[in-house]
Amino acid sequence: MGKLILMPGKERSVMKRHPWLFAGSVGRLEGRARPGDTVEVLADDLRPLGRAAYSPRSQIRARFWTFDAAETVDDAFFKRRVAAAVARREALPELRGQQGLRLIHAESDGLPGVIADRYGDTVVIQLTSAGADKWRDAIVAALLKATGCARIFERSDSEVRGLEGLAPATGWLHGSPADGLTIEENGVRLGVDVVGGHKTGFYLDQRDNRALLGQLSAGKDVLNCFCYTGGFSLQALAGGAASVLSIDSSGPALAQARANLALNPGLPIDKAEWLEADVFLALRDFRKAGRSFDLIVLDPPKFAPSAAHADRAARAYKDINLLGFRLLRPGGLLMTYSCSGGIGLELFQKIVAGAAQDAGRAGRIVRRLTGAADHPVALDFPEGEYLKGLLVQVD
Ligand code: SAH
Repeated sequence: MGKLILMPGKERSVMKRHPWLFAGSVGRLEGRARPGDTVEVLADDLRPLGRAAYSPRSQIRARFWTFDAAETVDDAFFKRRVAAAVARREALPELRGQQGLRLIHAESDGLPGVIADRYGDTVVIQLTSAGADKWRDAIVAALLKATGCARIFERSDSEVRGLEGLAPATGWLHGSPADGLTIEENGVRLGVDVVGGHKTGFYLDQRDNRALLGQLSAGKDVLNCFCYTGGFSLQALAGGAASVLSIDSSGPALAQARANLALNPGLPIDKAEWLEADVFLALRDFRKAGRSFDLIVLDPPKFAPSAAHADRAARAYKDINLLGFRLLRPGGLLMTYSCSGGIGLELFQKIVAGAAQDAGRAGRIVRRLTGAADHPVALDFPEGEYLKGLLVQVD
């Protein structure tokens, strides 16, 4: 095994169990290691710190598998880590029996670079680091054993693989292709396109917030911005909304949204309107046309992949929230989100407050919102991308 020896003082973040080692922290590599190989990590005084996956192409030069220098990283290691992640979900009553469930949330489950989402009897994995890519077979075997699922599909086509020197990898790894995959979420049936949809096919982290929207929607005119396949929209309809207007710029996402509504014959199809448009432009048009709503959802894509993009992202968040506030009727509710790793909750709250002020609206935060419990946030990993949201009620 190659040995990665750190620069003096650079063991400090490791002592806090931060799972990443940046290129600037690494002094030298002793022995040989290819991309994805496990290396022993040692402090500058040669104190052993743990074992990590080496990634020579990436600025994140190594990701820790374990902070126990004596723990072997082998098939049995992945079996343990995967089984523990699956068991963590089974231990939470609210997650038990969910048909759509994140089983592995990367660093937060001690498996950097590994995402695994379950949709019924199909697991979709996404491997984003050289180390995770190397251990594909072990991870797949461990998932099959821990879940008893029949099918595994790989959706490793995220752009971040390029930073690791990895080409995209997609395809069925186990079992026969599944057509017409659906899950039930909070009483609503949803089709999930694991091959062509975004990410692994669906945004599971919003499950609880979609349920909350359903509870708030009775009798309301709801505007759902960035609706993707209609998860929020269908909950609003199920909750008795008077009308639900949903906007997305993706034609295929809206086609799936319409198909999802058709999967739920009990929902009032005549109360749903779907609009293929850029939210930034559509909301300006609504303003000009004098339209208004009781309840607005803003769940945009990640505007800031890292802190470096925070400024531009802050302007985009400010812009849509400002537009949202302007379209709210008195007493109306804004459910607004950011999933940008580069924007913390405190900053997001400031941006939203600034947007309200500029829109001339006063109000209060009635709830802080987070991702669902199957998307835990590691205490030792502040960089973790996580969903943050606010439910704001205006006067
Ligand atoms: N709320 C959704 C997830 C939203 S993901 C859910 O619960 O499932 C973000 C969505 O924003 C994607 O569907 C993407 O197609 C859409 N999008 C990105 N930029 C957009 C823009 N400028 N205008 C409208 N939609 C946009």
